[in-house]
This record gives sequence, C-alpha cells and structure tokens, in this order.
Amino acid sequence: MVKERIAYRICPKCARAVPLESKETFCSNDGEKLLESCPSCQNPIISPYTRFCSNCGTELRSK
Ligand SMILES: [Zn+2]
Ligand SMILES: [Zn+2]
Repeated sequence: MVKERIAYRICPKCARAVPLESKETFCSNDGEKLLESCPSCQNPIISPYTRFCSNCGTELRSK
C-alpha cells in the first residue's frame, strides 16, 4: 500500500500551513517566509497543525 505523503510549509508567525506543492513561499497573512522543514533537523512538515518538530521537538513558531 503506497500512501501519498503530503508535506506542508508552515508560517513561523501565525502557524498557517500550505501544501508544499502550492509553491507559496511567503505567508499571505503577514509576509513571513514559510518554513519548508524543521530549521534544526530538516524533518519535513507532514501535518498542517504542526507546532513542534515531531523528530527533535524544536518549536517551529518563532515568537
Ligand atoms: Zn503567517
Ligand atoms: Zn526537527
């Protein structure tokens, strides 16, 4: 069974998530550059509700 893995970009400011294939690289709410993966371990973001990296626990939102 092949499960399609959808990855997301996430805004570090407002936590808005967009699918990786949308080609959006900046948040349309606040102009922040969207994170494509965890900044410390490069783990991909596979949930649109991610707040912390599931691999290393780094908080993706910057305050
Ligand atoms: Zn934002
Ligand atoms: Zn990480």
